[in-house]
Amino acid sequence: MFKQLTLFLLIFSGILSSQVISEELIKSHLFALSSDLMEGRKAGTIGIEKAAIYIEKEFERIGLGWFGGMNSYRQNFEERGLSLFNIVGYLEGKSKKNEIVVISAHYDHLGIKKGGDEEDVIFNGANDNASGVTAVLALAEHFSNQNNNERSLLFVAFTAEEMGLLGSNYFGKQINSKNIIAGINIEMIGKESPFGPKTAWITGFDRSDFGRIIQQNLIGSDYKVFPDPYVNFNLFFRSDNASLAKLGVPSHTFSTSPMDKDLDYHKVSDEAKTLDLFTISETIKAIAAGVKSIISGADSPTRVSISEN
Ligand SMILES: [Zn+2]
Repeated sequence: MFKQLTLFLLIFSGILSSQVISEELIKSHLFALSSDLMEGRKAGTIGIEKAAIYIEKEFERIGLGWFGGMNSYRQNFEERGLSLFNIVGYLEGKSKKNEIVVISAHYDHLGIKKGGDEEDVIFNGANDNASGVTAVLALAEHFSNQNNNERSLLFVAFTAEEMGLLGSNYFGKQINSKNIIAGINIEMIGKESPFGPKTAWITGFDRSDFGRIIQQNLIGSDYKVFPDPYVNFNLFFRSDNASLAKLGVPSHTFSTSPMDKDLDYHKVSDEAKTLDLFTISETIKAIAAGVKSIISGADSPTRVSISEN
């Protein structure tokens, strides 16, 4: 009787957890974060404050805690005369709480176009990077519901990426990088990848065995990840993963972006309605499955060593 009940609960909770990453939830995060109300989420503006409040409310609803000595989700700092902050939510590990996996995306974007005479002057940044923040929120809810992460998880929305990785650089200075087992950064997952449906690419693929661990964990699924095809764009160093990678952390960015032919990139036309919800939700599910063995402690990716480039 009890065995049957346990089995029933296991199956039931399995179904529930996969329902967490639903297109409906993803759509609501994506449209909220890229709405005109957020005014393009430029770091240091009122618009980004609205996005921050949205993320904090979600972290609270999901049940994330504050990290270390922090007394809120906000990690405040001053730079370039601006008051800036990352948003950090913590899910303590069951048996390896001092081993931390960071799951991140930048939540800032370019703000409002100056001197534009077009009707639309707001850089909504739906793909860049409301889609990544949507992934962080959905993954936070997924792993919180799963309630079986052996390692601790830090869900981080980085600020001021567009100003030169300011938020992630500050974050890197505040933590002991030796405790960070891996960095999972997510950027622009709203358009179908150049490799086709149900695929993504990972930056810095050969700099650690992180990518190969993900590929291994996705065997048997119909989703595939590939090395970054845009080697000449130097993307490994152009997103927040780089701030942790410079400290030796195997920290990589997932993306589906068709970088060479995305006409909305850094344009006011980067709006939620141009994105593909199927690509976003399948990619988030694939990341959840792909990083499983890293979160359980079964796999620890090799460290990264960087001289500069
Ligand atoms: Zn970006």
